[in-house]
Amino acid sequence: MPARGPEPQPRGAVIRGNHPIDQQEAARRFMAAPQHLAMHDQRLWDLRKKRDGQKEIIEEWEDLRQLASDIKTHTLTHLDTYLEQFEKNAIANGVKVHWAKDAAEHNSIVAEILRSKNAKSLIKSKSMLTEECGFREAMAHEGVTVVETDLGERIQQLDNENPSHVVVPAVHKLRTDVAEVFAKTLGSDPDNSDVSYLTEQQREHTRPLILKADAGMTGCNFAVAETGSVVVCTNEGNADLSANTTGLHIVSMGIEKIIPNLNSLAVFVRMLSRSALGSPITQYTSHFRGPRRGAEMHIVIVDNGRTDRLGLEKFWTSLKCIRCGACMNTCPVFRRSGGLSYGATYAGPIGLIIDPTFNRHKYSTLPFSSTMNGSCTNVCPVKINIHEQIADWRQVLAENHEIPAFKKSMMKAAGALLASPKLYRASLPMADSALRHLPRFVLYNKLNTWTRGREMPHVPKETFHQWYKRTRGVDGKKK
Ligand code: SF4
Repeated sequence: MPARGPEPQPRGAVIRGNHPIDQQEAARRFMAAPQHLAMHDQRLWDLRKKRDGQKEIIEEWEDLRQLASDIKTHTLTHLDTYLEQFEKNAIANGVKVHWAKDAAEHNSIVAEILRSKNAKSLIKSKSMLTEECGFREAMAHEGVTVVETDLGERIQQLDNENPSHVVVPAVHKLRTDVAEVFAKTLGSDPDNSDVSYLTEQQREHTRPLILKADAGMTGCNFAVAETGSVVVCTNEGNADLSANTTGLHIVSMGIEKIIPNLNSLAVFVRMLSRSALGSPITQYTSHFRGPRRGAEMHIVIVDNGRTDRLGLEKFWTSLKCIRCGACMNTCPVFRRSGGLSYGATYAGPIGLIIDPTFNRHKYSTLPFSSTMNGSCTNVCPVKINIHEQIADWRQVLAENHEIPAFKKSMMKAAGALLASPKLYRASLPMADSALRHLPRFVLYNKLNTWTRGREMPHVPKETFHQWYKRTRGVDGKKK
């Protein structure tokens, strides 16, 4: 099978220290790679369609969404109570519980646990929290080798890239890209991009590393306060590998993962995989309640900015997110620009509202990478009002001078125009005439970013208002 296609994989946003991310620049590069663009758009749209199919089957879907949202509201507003209950029950189960206020503390707690066991290698199932914490880099400084057990995440690790999607980390890669990565890192045939061949190559190479590892780490999809247990959902069973292969299991868990009890778990388990991949359930829903006989289990409960977010009146509900990725799969910007174009741990619609809570300046451009069509809000299984929060962020960023002066003055002028119906109507004929008669270069130039990726719509002969007046008259009665 021919492998190396003519099209190189477009890389993500260029990170320049604390400078605002240029998502548009990275998106343009992604859109200039037609094979990648078409594949990415199609793959994610397929997931969205499968999700819609599942939703249709479940009659009580909207009730479930409301219930999931209500459970999250309740839990987040009683977080201290449930976290303490969880800790008490986990300790009673034989688990060692640690608390980390930020990424650095998370990494140093894990490093200390590993040092105490003289562990030099760790196998890990995919976890966005550890991405947030820069965990792999931190462990490299400690001399600990980390091996990802999730196939997509392992591909990304070998390619020295972050996950581009919360559920399908390597979804932006063509098979030929994977063949190229494996050829470089595992010594496989660069001209063979057969999926079975590539999977086999990866397995042959990684299994020995897994079997030799000194410690295992998993993330946590849900932490049940009532039982003190953590639940991890995967399709490859890789969390079970990470948890059970060695005598030391470390769980990395964000404080917002807590849910009250097993009844509420049932609601989220019904929604997670259906929203994410359009499948009724994940292949593996693993419950870890305590250490195996002779083994140790640690849970590191991490804040890393979450309590600050909880205090943000307009944005606290973003903590309800169960990381299903449905908002990404439906977002036209995400589908056409790839997750790495956002230059942040969290991409797509949910990223637009979470990322600025980590760093307002660096991620100040992201809330503008949205068409505001509201589809993200419609598919969100926990009913986060994502597009409204994106609009709120735009306002907050403008008020805090975190947007370029040119954009700010344009928005101010547009605001004044739209706030005055008289002014707006008076300006329309002028704008229409300009659109009809101006030479093309005046509209389509480097300064006008709007027209870089699209054509201006046709100017209609009359506006809706003119049509209404002509056909209904000023009193609204049909002529
Ligand atoms: S915001 Fe909603 S749709 Fe997006 S990942 Fe989170 S739970 Fe899923």
